[in-house]
Amino acid sequence: STESTVTIIVVGASGDLAKKKIFPALFALYYEGCLPKHFTVFGYARSKMTSEELRNVISGTLTCRIDQRENCGDKMDKFLQHCFYHSGQYNSEDSFKQLSKKLEEHETGRVANRLFYLSIPPDIFVDVARCASRSASSSRGWTRVIVEKPFGRDAQSSAELTRGLKQHLTEEQIYRIDHYLGKELVENLSVLRFSNLVFEPLWTRQYIRNVQLIFSEDFGTEGRGGYFDNYGIIRDIMQNHLLQILALFAMEPPVSLDAEDIRNEKVKVLRSMRVLSAEDVVVGQYKSHTRGGVKHPGYTEDKTVPNHSLTPTFAAAALFIDNARWDGVPFLMKAGKALHTKRTEIRVQFRHVPGNLYKRSFGSDLDRATNELVIRVQPDEAIYLKINNKVPGLGMRLDRSNLHLHYAARYNREIPDAYERLLLDAIEGERRLFIRSDELDAAWALFTPLLNELESNKVAPEFYPYGSRGPIGAYYLAAKYNVRWGDASSELTTT
Ligand code: NAP
Repeated sequence: STESTVTIIVVGASGDLAKKKIFPALFALYYEGCLPKHFTVFGYARSKMTSEELRNVISGTLTCRIDQRENCGDKMDKFLQHCFYHSGQYNSEDSFKQLSKKLEEHETGRVANRLFYLSIPPDIFVDVARCASRSASSSRGWTRVIVEKPFGRDAQSSAELTRGLKQHLTEEQIYRIDHYLGKELVENLSVLRFSNLVFEPLWTRQYIRNVQLIFSEDFGTEGRGGYFDNYGIIRDIMQNHLLQILALFAMEPPVSLDAEDIRNEKVKVLRSMRVLSAEDVVVGQYKSHTRGGVKHPGYTEDKTVPNHSLTPTFAAAALFIDNARWDGVPFLMKAGKALHTKRTEIRVQFRHVPGNLYKRSFGSDLDRATNELVIRVQPDEAIYLKINNKVPGLGMRLDRSNLHLHYAARYNREIPDAYERLLLDAIEGERRLFIRSDELDAAWALFTPLLNELESNKVAPEFYPYGSRGPIGAYYLAAKYNVRWGDASSELTTT
């Protein structure tokens, strides 16, 4: 047959990410009929396991979404029949040769495409790239490799990793995942802006006063701080996820939706940005806090974290894009662990209405009466626009109300996990949502001097209690630019 096959090789199949995200995403794609007719999933890791044992492990993690309940168990069994396991070392070309032999048995002479997902610690990325490329590349079809952050710790180590990978792979073969780009509302950002006349014309310094990118988690490292402590929140969330969203938000209209056109525009934004300096950043670290009789431990009480760690678990930063569209508009980022809520959102605060006729009808707080567009990426996806509205009745009193698109109410379906979209795109060769190496370089160029400054000066983070709104310094930073952080909790009553 001339029909092609695709094999997804999950390297590090015994690990957490594979179990939690990759296998479930592959199954969801299978359920939706998105995988090619001839596909195989191969787990690869050092752990000794049979294919049957891998299937047992995977089957415990598969779930069916609400809209996928039909024949769910049956589909799971069928999916598991496509799954196999091969045990081997990460730096052994021989092991990969053996793997390749097994893959060939399943490929049965068809055009055979191979997608390697490196779900392993980054210090062995290059070993695996070498072995896979030399000993397990497809001779009749494409070979692609997905890697996930961390891509280094700074500009230099990231460049080293890129160099290492490029010794064995071409840029076209490398798919760098930023799973935030696979999130529904991040994908929708361009749709919202470029296909609605009411938004794109406002997307400039003329009408937008500031943009806020907020990531907050309501839990700490909880005994898993070993990885985190080496990176900190700036590297873990800001330099990649929030900066990617910023670039998508702020880019000029691309020539087309082709990956290269979009990535060209994103990299232009990154290269137009001012390099961050310590004055425009506040760092924090959570300390223990007892609430309702429950003691929540501070960051350094985590046994996997060094006692005197200065690693920030919170950061706020003001960024600027020095181009014609965004000159002077602060882009404020805030990211933290162990805060009072769990959410990721984009907030666009618009300027005042000049010479507002209704000034008197607002009462005391005219300052807050500007329009604000909120895109809630997670959880409970929503887009809402805060407008000023007349309170019904005689007399003229205004309040702020929301035009509200609430996904759960509007769309009767669960939103696919980001990993589903990204895996499907990688199989289809769609690179729009993956990071090109020049984007990665530009992103590190912005943050590396700051990270060096914080670390070489041993800047002490400002403490904030577990479960709070974060260090007070974040408010002063915003105030310096005449900005107030948007506050989701005060909006619940009006939605
Ligand atoms: P993991 O469980 O620590 O590691 C995955 C597998 O790699 C392990 O099962 C182990 O398999 C092998 N491994 C672990 N440490 C190793 C070492 N020092 N030398 C050689 N092999 C080692 O990692 P994970 O949580 O699945 O994450 C995989 C990758 O994705 C990591 O690079 C991580 O940074 C990244 N990531 C993870 C998440 C997440 O939610 N977990 C999110 C974003 C990014 P064997 O011992 O069987 O060979």
